[in-house]
Amino acid sequence: MTPLGRLIRDMIASDGPMPLDRYMALSLSHPEHGYYATRDPFGARGDFVTSPEISQMFGELIGLWAAEAWRVMGSPARVALIELGPGRGTLMGDMLRAARAAPGFLDAAEVTLVETSPALAEIQAGALNGFDVLRRWTRTVDDALDDGRAGAASVPAIVIANEFFDALPIRQFVRTKSGWRERLVGLGPDGGLAFGLASEPPPDIRLLDAPEGAVREVRPQALAIAARVATHLKTHGGAMLAIDYGYASGAGDTFQALAGHAFAGPLDAPGEADLTAHVDFSAVAAAARTGGAEVMRLVAQGDLLDRLGLAARAERLSRQASPSQREAIAAAVVRLTDRGPRGMGALFKALAFGDPRLGALPGFEIEAAETPRSQGLEF
Ligand code: SAH
Repeated sequence: MTPLGRLIRDMIASDGPMPLDRYMALSLSHPEHGYYATRDPFGARGDFVTSPEISQMFGELIGLWAAEAWRVMGSPARVALIELGPGRGTLMGDMLRAARAAPGFLDAAEVTLVETSPALAEIQAGALNGFDVLRRWTRTVDDALDDGRAGAASVPAIVIANEFFDALPIRQFVRTKSGWRERLVGLGPDGGLAFGLASEPPPDIRLLDAPEGAVREVRPQALAIAARVATHLKTHGGAMLAIDYGYASGAGDTFQALAGHAFAGPLDAPGEADLTAHVDFSAVAAAARTGGAEVMRLVAQGDLLDRLGLAARAERLSRQASPSQREAIAAAVVRLTDRGPRGMGALFKALAFGDPRLGALPGFEIEAAETPRSQGLEF
């Protein structure tokens, strides 16, 4: 058992079984043993590779998206450029480099990185070293939007999140013969961690009925963050772009662990494997609407990157590249846009919402007559 596993076992022994969100939060963010607190999980030697780590083109296109959103907002003199869960800081670095091409944007931008892991915040600081832009770090979205001292409180915001929501803790509910029961982590007969179900219905959550055996996932923190950001955007202006893997609606049990690029049991090695669950985009969209934002239609990552000009970007990069670099660029294009069942192009989706006064956001303009159905996924 991992050190964190022993700690969790002792907690359960004294306080009883815990819901998945508590287990997930401890596994990922425990200050001493948590997965993100202790390591840099990204890249070839880490446990998984994210889009910004696959190619600089991803961040560059998002950077141009942000600059274009700022222009649509009327090029305000100040804009909070906020990234949630910035990992190694690669995405923000690529965004800022590409956004140099947009006159005035970087002078207006004040960067805030929302990060709970001190180890990753340090890596992010390194990644942004060369950029002449105001920057700061906060641990919560509230602080990023509220901090009176830095003044983001009343400033319009552009908020970016790639693979952030999937890392936020979920709760799971199973429809049993006698109604919904929350999935818990308890102790098995051998004293190890084991899944179980609460004996009573959840006191604090109501779910639509479903057939016996159905599983529902709820991500309270993601919904709160989407609503909070939406309220800011509605009040002060701005837009949010969230890219993640997930589903438009209803998917059942998606709780999973990844270690060394392979799936693992979520209870096998707490603190040493990444724990995630797919994002329920319709729930996040509904929360954003509750907060007052206008939500764009969900778009597959492959479609968004195509619309933002991935092909042209790849061609430009290839012009000055060596043959092997050219191959790598072409491979990255395929990997980021692959619409196959496990490919990132379709599994990953982009959700955008913003100040209703802005109308359609860049890359999310769906011209009803011209756009093939596959480009706009229905909720
Ligand atoms: N966006 C990056 C990293 C994704 S991994 C990329 O695409 O490569 C998830 C990131 O979110 C990590 O940086 C992790 O430390 C951070 N994170 C996880 N939970 C968080 C929380 N509650 N608040 C802020 N950051 C969090």
